[in-house]
Amino acid sequence: MSTESYYVAVVGAGPAGMFAARELARNDVKVVIFNRDIKPGGLAEYGIYPDKLAMKQGLRTQFYQALQTPGLTYFGNITIGAQGDLSLDDLRALGFQAILVTAGAQGTKWLSLPGEHLKGVYHAKGLVYHYNQLPPYSSDEFRFGNRAAVVGAGNVMLDIARYLIQKIKVEEVIAVVRRGPAEVKFDRKEMEYVIANLDQRALDEELARVTPTMQSIGQDAEAAKAVILEALPKAQFTSSLTRFRFEFLVSPIQILSDENENVTGLEVEDNSLAMKDGEAKARGTGIKRVIPVNSVVFAIGDTVDDSFGLPTAGSEFVKNLQPRFPVEGISYEAFDPQTYHPIDDVFFAGWSRQASTGLVGYARKDGTNGSKAVLQYLQTLQPFTPDVAALSAKLKKLGKPVVSENDVRKLVEIEADEAKKRGVDFFKFNSNEEMLEKIMSVG
Ligand SMILES: Cc1cc2nc3c(=O)[nH]c(=O)nc-3n(C[C@H](O)[C@H](O)[C@H](O)COP(=O)(O)OP(=O)(O)OC[C@H]3O[C@@H](n4cnc5c(N)ncnc54)[C@H](O)[C@@H]3O)c2cc1C
Repeated sequence: MSTESYYVAVVGAGPAGMFAARELARNDVKVVIFNRDIKPGGLAEYGIYPDKLAMKQGLRTQFYQALQTPGLTYFGNITIGAQGDLSLDDLRALGFQAILVTAGAQGTKWLSLPGEHLKGVYHAKGLVYHYNQLPPYSSDEFRFGNRAAVVGAGNVMLDIARYLIQKIKVEEVIAVVRRGPAEVKFDRKEMEYVIANLDQRALDEELARVTPTMQSIGQDAEAAKAVILEALPKAQFTSSLTRFRFEFLVSPIQILSDENENVTGLEVEDNSLAMKDGEAKARGTGIKRVIPVNSVVFAIGDTVDDSFGLPTAGSEFVKNLQPRFPVEGISYEAFDPQTYHPIDDVFFAGWSRQASTGLVGYARKDGTNGSKAVLQYLQTLQPFTPDVAALSAKLKKLGKPVVSENDVRKLVEIEADEAKKRGVDFFKFNSNEEMLEKIMSVG
């Protein structure tokens, strides 16, 4: 029997990477997934709100099943990149014919405002990783006072609000939104978890304040209010007394603090709205004011990792705008703007292709489509017999524990036993050391 095949590295085991790898393996490609985290799942494991137990468990089951696809090998606890355990050139030297980057969007987007360095100012990603117990964020300390501002208008803003309302139980959560009530980006379903805490009188007052601005571009404040309140009939029960409210049409300018660097307020500038290219855009009015808060969380999206070793522009990796292998009209291909040439063997999918865009279902589809672009590219090459021993030797040389699919399975079983012992729905270890120790303990 011939052992010749194509040989592809998938970087990252989030939804995009897992479904891409499975698709490639099903097409007789020999696939190796390298994942920074010990466990697969990416943001499905470490981003989605922890209380969504059934959804998370359903996804885990799919990921663990995908890992068993013949021809697919998993190496967890391995970071790829210019500063990682293996660089892209290392992967090329090991014989990988294509590299599909599905590493998510690991950079953080900041607004470069004075005061961002203060304790009490956080990026949503760090907090989300923390409460989902991803090492090393799991052991980071977060300090929230009575009043917290969450900057953003999407589902991640609502997840953070939910955490602050239900777990931290701060007195007040203020969603700070750059544009108006008609431009909020969250889904009704996500609002159901927090709407019981929404101060509806404050919402009415805020709508009254911004109505003239909305009317100036022909928007209907009552219609926008109806959309925000759509979640009311399915409002989830709350035992928290937190007051949740919105501040619309404001842009943060700086974070203020006392002499001990404790956050005391978020200075904002009021915005007006103007239509441009069919979209409502925020414009600063020059009017500034301070919202008194003790902490600020920015939920304004992520950027790709600009230290990965591939060219970036803005929050994205640079893509080939004239793709050789488009799928549904989309380019999955890397591009070097310096040489003005595609980087032939590197492809992107999921949040690495388009940062902070879409839910798991979208990442899954994007991963599968990215793998189709890779499959087209492979048709231009010859299959060969991959030198699996060379990869093993290289990984051994790293001198660190490498986690296999079998190890993941053991860990999942140990955690399930631990949950039973503790009488909880779900349990996970929150440090790499503990996870590795438990894996080793069962040999
Ligand atoms: C706070 C939050 C809540 C969300 N809630 C929901 C929800 O309720 N429902 C829903 O459907 N979707 C939700 N999403 C969206 C969903 O999580 C994403 O659509 C999806 O996870 C993106 O998948 P991905 O594979 O592109 O990236 P990711 O999930 O980010 O996976 C990236 C993977 O790459 C690995 N990696 C990173 N860098 C490297 C490297 N250098 N080398 C090797 N590996 C690397 C990481 O360890 C990770 O495993 C949420 C997202 C966030 C941020």
